[in-house]
Amino acid sequence: MHDIKKNATSTRNWWKQPFRMVQTNLRQPDALYDQHALAREARELGATALLYNIGGIFAFYPTKLELQAVNPLMKGDALGKAVEAAHAEGLALVGRFDMSKATKLAYDAHPEWFVHNRAGKALEYNGTYQACVNGGWYQDYAFRIIEEALGRYEVDGVFFNMFGYTNFNYSGEYFGICVCDACKRRFRAMYDRDLPAKEDFSDPAYADYLEFQDRTARELQGRIYDHIHEVARSVAMTGHRGKCDLIRMEVQRGVSRPQPEWPHQAGEQARWARAYAPDKNASATSANFVDFAWRFHSETAACHTLRMAQQLANGMTLDLYLLGVIEQDDNRPMAGVKELFHWHAGVEDEYRGLTSGAKIALYHSLKSARYTRRKSGGGRADHIASLLSAGATPMRGYFRALLEDRLAFDFVCDEAVEGKAAGPSGIDALSGYEALVLPSILCLSDEEAAILDAYVESGGVLVVTGETGFFDARGESRFRSALASMPVNGVPKEHANMKGAYFRVSAEELPLPDSRLVMLDGRFWEADLKPGTETLMQLLPPQRFGPPELCFPDEESELPGVVIAPYGKGRVVWLPWQPELQYYRDSLPSHRTIMTDVIKRHISAPEVIVEGKGAIEVTVQRQPQGSSLIHVVNYAGQRNNLYEDPPELHGLKVGILGASGETVRLLRSGKTVSLSAPDPDGRRWAELPAIGDFEAIVAGSAT
Ligand SMILES: [Zn+2]
Repeated sequence: MHDIKKNATSTRNWWKQPFRMVQTNLRQPDALYDQHALAREARELGATALLYNIGGIFAFYPTKLELQAVNPLMKGDALGKAVEAAHAEGLALVGRFDMSKATKLAYDAHPEWFVHNRAGKALEYNGTYQACVNGGWYQDYAFRIIEEALGRYEVDGVFFNMFGYTNFNYSGEYFGICVCDACKRRFRAMYDRDLPAKEDFSDPAYADYLEFQDRTARELQGRIYDHIHEVARSVAMTGHRGKCDLIRMEVQRGVSRPQPEWPHQAGEQARWARAYAPDKNASATSANFVDFAWRFHSETAACHTLRMAQQLANGMTLDLYLLGVIEQDDNRPMAGVKELFHWHAGVEDEYRGLTSGAKIALYHSLKSARYTRRKSGGGRADHIASLLSAGATPMRGYFRALLEDRLAFDFVCDEAVEGKAAGPSGIDALSGYEALVLPSILCLSDEEAAILDAYVESGGVLVVTGETGFFDARGESRFRSALASMPVNGVPKEHANMKGAYFRVSAEELPLPDSRLVMLDGRFWEADLKPGTETLMQLLPPQRFGPPELCFPDEESELPGVVIAPYGKGRVVWLPWQPELQYYRDSLPSHRTIMTDVIKRHISAPEVIVEGKGAIEVTVQRQPQGSSLIHVVNYAGQRNNLYEDPPELHGLKVGILGASGETVRLLRSGKTVSLSAPDPDGRRWAELPAIGDFEAIVAGSAT
């Protein structure tokens, strides 16, 4: 054991700071790489934490546990040297375990610990075997590996790869669920039935199986967390949902992912992490490679920067993921990443203790993501959804509308609302938000709905679309909305195909002054409205669209496109269609105007307005002393999945309510610009110099 104690204090609590991590996923030969050079290169890159292999599949230290294979190419003790080298450079060392697989050594000794499908086949890939969550490798041997490694090495954190259930291999081939004795036994004990025969809601056991996977994986994670803190109290464990000290996710792409590109993955993950556990630091490592099959072809620096700008703008810190060591065959993005890391090192104090300043939250529902498919049951196709790529979700459609309208917004997640997340529970998860948007959030639990009703009753604005709340927590139909605040009686009648339909609009109703109609596609719901509702727009039912001589409507209708109803001190706005799916597909500004106006008209003016042309994201965060940290992220270099250096944006103006002082500080350009006197709305304006990849604006608070 090397004497590393003298440096260890500098890296203690590394994970409570705005850190910069570099993850090196080491291959067997990388154990021979000079550990001191690696640590020095990480520090020169600007990192504060280095992620380095410990063990699991292959130990990067001389293990005494006979079923854990030792890296056959290692000489001496790679991990020991890496810990010493990292601490000598002032870096925290985070150890990477991969307990999801083991070699033939363990498999031959205990085949029953590993995943087996109905054909009795093990999930083998390149000589490694997938471990079953309920088997002895995960449930017992992993604990011994952790104890040995953390007892011997003073690492500062641990990360676990691919925790949980897998039924695909790295090549994406489907394998089926594990039906080992441990799975069978545990599933029967928990649900009193056999494992599902297929992974499909047509199998009556499938809904239980989804819950089973979640509960057992979460339970194992909790046990591992407790074990780590018994053996090494100050070691931080990264994780996602459930027990962990900090949240760590991954932003990556795959070449076979359906188009169009979703360029907001980083900001989406950052919003989720803050919603799930606002008290935890979080990062999502930016994978340097374009796909698993091509681990050594790098993304561009502009791609990493756009991801990292979204993360900084939404409360995450910085994290880069390389396969192999820092020196890559395709080294092109590294200069750009280094520049960003070094810039962040100089301003990191500005990123401490941030909270969100957003007034709008978009609802993120794990249960809807999991159980919405139950409704279609493989039966009726959803006309508009079938036109969309697999990556499209209602949430992402509304996400784009809010972002492209330059509104600052957060996520609220269902688990946090119900108090099942790792953050503040119950109505606390909703406090501070003037409006919540639930885009086709089908599945609500009774408890969740009651909390949302209480939110509206106390003055909140709930904007819901489509069939929100007409299904229970496991995707079964309800006879009425879960929400008492919903202004409809019973279940609305669905009109399944609105191809050729429109809404009539008027300038008095909505800020669409030069248009008298807006297209409608997909589904529309007709409801028995409760008394006292206000409505906007009227449905023009589907009409003939050919030949041209016959393209005129035979009938109009009184059915509304927007229903607004007071409830307590707040109100519910129901759009009985799915503008979010249409916006995702068609990007029509009229739809965006409707989607954002029904929010904006009911809440206070945004704290920050950015005027001028350009594709930007605007976010607002609060520093502990009350000043605002405003990010303007430049997307002009992104076209579908092409990420190039963005052209500079000129002529942007930022207007801030409640800003004090005479100037604002621009952290990215290092400039200071003056603030105007307040305009009649009390808003003070600053002319922004040219914006490159992004800008971070610090504005003092009047309070
Ligand atoms: Zn199993």
